[in-house]
Amino acid sequence: VLESNMKFSDFKSDEAGLVPVVVQDYKTSEVLMMAYMNQEAFDKTIETGRMTYYSRSREEIWIKGLTSGHFQYVRELSIDCDKDTLLARVFQVGAACHTGNRSCFYTPVAKKEYKVSNPFEVFQDVFRVIQDRKENPKDGSYTNYLFDKGIDKILKKLGEEAVEIVIAAKNPDPEEIKYEISDFLYHMMVLMAEKGVTWEEITDELNRR
Ligand code: AMP
Ligand code: ZN
Ligand code: ZN
Ligand code: ZN
Repeated sequence: VLESNMKFSDFKSDEAGLVPVVVQDYKTSEVLMMAYMNQEAFDKTIETGRMTYYSRSREEIWIKGLTSGHFQYVRELSIDCDKDTLLARVFQVGAACHTGNRSCFYTPVAKKEYKVSNPFEVFQDVFRVIQDRKENPKDGSYTNYLFDKGIDKILKKLGEEAVEIVIAAKNPDPEEIKYEISDFLYHMMVLMAEKGVTWEEITDELNRR
């Protein structure tokens, strides 16, 4: 049950009676999509716990996921400082985007080179590249070489890398262990992709413990 301490009329809607909603994955904080709510969509969302929007193109109430099964369950709603934009933190079933992408924001427009520093983002980025290699093999890719050789090769490499971590940990050179842990994590993610395990499943499990 959702408890709401605000009403739609407390928000500053536009001329059409709409308030934009930024939708975020409640665990990873990934921005998934953006849509609009009117009074009815907001009330339905509070009532059902499922994100319900107003579709401007179809001019109708839109329960996200009703045809795709990709429902969004509300974890938290907040309104911004000037009360004209909602933020929804949700549990997303499947993909938020109707194209099948988890997020609607997959098309780069402009970018300044930057160093990704959030560890989980790096894991996810590497994992996505590995998954992409599996689906769209690339000539000369070591990852594809591993997938082609099959699970026994992946397991053998993983075992070797684990042993190398142990050896590096005994090595007085502090640099060594970083390389070996990185090698291990990469091969572990290749195994995850091979077995169809996602980071979400791993972090879900860790969260539960
Ligand atoms: P769904 O609500 O996921 O069952 O999808 C129903 C329809 O809503 C789709 O066919 C799209 O036209 C539209 N739709 C779904 N997800 C999005 C989205 N993230 N952004 C814009 N339109 C969407
Ligand atoms: Zn502000
Ligand atoms: Zn605002
Ligand atoms: Zn989309």
